[in-house]
Amino acid sequence: MRAAVVKNLKEFDIKDLQKPTLKDMGAIIKIIGCGLCGSDIVKLLHGSHINKVLGHEVLGTIEEINSTTSFKKGDKVVLAHHIPCFNCDYCRKHNYSMCEKFKKTNITPGGFAEYIYITEDHLKNTVFHAPQNLNDSTSVFMEPLACCLRAIKRANTEKNDNVMVIGLGSIGLLMGQAAKCYGAKVSGCDILDERIALAQKVGFDNVFKSDSDEKTSSEFKSKTKKTGADIVFLTSGSKSSLSLALKCVRNGGVILVFASISDDNLGFANNQIYYRELTVLGSYSPACSDLEEALTLLKDGKINVNGFTKEYSLDNINNAISDTLNKKILKAYIKI
Ligand SMILES: [Zn+2]
Ligand SMILES: [Zn+2]
Repeated sequence: MRAAVVKNLKEFDIKDLQKPTLKDMGAIIKIIGCGLCGSDIVKLLHGSHINKVLGHEVLGTIEEINSTTSFKKGDKVVLAHHIPCFNCDYCRKHNYSMCEKFKKTNITPGGFAEYIYITEDHLKNTVFHAPQNLNDSTSVFMEPLACCLRAIKRANTEKNDNVMVIGLGSIGLLMGQAAKCYGAKVSGCDILDERIALAQKVGFDNVFKSDSDEKTSSEFKSKTKKTGADIVFLTSGSKSSLSLALKCVRNGGVILVFASISDDNLGFANNQIYYRELTVLGSYSPACSDLEEALTLLKDGKINVNGFTKEYSLDNINNAISDTLNKKILKAYIKI
């Protein structure tokens, strides 16, 4: 079968790999398409995944199955890759994405391939029927939206909270809409005009151009609450976003970090955290229950992803990578 295998720090190679077989419980999925996630690009650039197949935002049909679940051959499904044990110290404190089993479990070999093998455990926890009313490139937003829902919950987002989303890439646009589903008043900012327009289209209450920290934060405060944001969601991987977050958040507020930054030596805003009683926390990957909630929100039309995606063939996956890195597109969907 054909698959995109990581060749070097920049690109994939399309190779012919052995098709996975069903030796035990589980299923073989014939992949229809797979979303390209920011974390796939981080893994590619990091160089730790040479010769591996990436991709985890998967849509496909069950080609072969041996399972105690009610899934059957021919079912069209959306799925995600990691499963927690629900039992360790991390899981007991709901840090599912830190669970050792969560980190170890995966689909084989990865979503940018014609077929994958998934375990019985996947079928029980992270596989769902693809809703009939959703088109293919919309259903694969289940996993990234679930990541956002988990962040919304970790930050204790509540009705009428004044929320600021810094960075309006596909995650920022999903995060803002998810926060609105939880009743928040949502503002967002970005430097790119087309992303600002998209945020307005999907229902952000206020959108600002983030050309200078001082200007953006004062515009945001004068349009919303003078005290600042109850919660700032940091979804931009740019270095300057941390200082903007500190200017936008109110005393006693929350900064939720949802992006990696290439230079990790920014220091630690000790005195701001201390004197202003800030809460700074991260959120990484979804819990299984978030996947189901995300799919329901998509199915019910509560989250708008129209115009987010550009479709590429597997052969063109390297163009999808460079277009994403050059911010020419918001999100790539790789059609297999
Ligand atoms: Zn993802
Ligand atoms: Zn665990």
